[in-house]
Amino acid sequence: MLELLDRLKSDFPQITFVQGDSFYWSPKNQSVTYTPGSTMPDVAKWSLLHEVSHGILGHKNYFSDFELMQLEVAAWQYARGLAKKYDVKIDPEHIQDCLDTYRDWLHLRATCPTCGTVSAQKDPSTYQCFNCRSVWNVSNSRFCRPYRRKTVRNI
Ligand SMILES: [Zn+2]
Ligand SMILES: [Zn+2]
Repeated sequence: MLELLDRLKSDFPQITFVQGDSFYWSPKNQSVTYTPGSTMPDVAKWSLLHEVSHGILGHKNYFSDFELMQLEVAAWQYARGLAKKYDVKIDPEHIQDCLDTYRDWLHLRATCPTCGTVSAQKDPSTYQCFNCRSVWNVSNSRFCRPYRRKTVRNI
């Protein structure tokens, strides 16, 4: 992964690369945070390409979870093209997993804690239920939460 990182650094000098504890894009700092000591070198490369894609596409803060989902899809699409340039092959199943995980997570945020109705977002940190009018707050989502395949669905 470090070789790829070096190439990306020289090809995209406008992006700052910062070592950290997970992979994500920061629109505020125009930086990609990455973890160097990954146990899954392939996944690390894919994540890196994905985050860089957010940067190249100029993804900024988004208003709603729905919008965030669209940016995620766009970043993966771009990453696939970028991967070819760097002789990396991104497993399409990984992309699907990431997007599914995101979708599940967003679905959970949108579900009313009182009655279980899937509801609408009012602003970046608040949802209101269509059915019982409950209001609840969600933490600000950010680009690229770390994904774990072992997430159990439909418990
Ligand atoms: Zn409700
Ligand atoms: Zn992303």
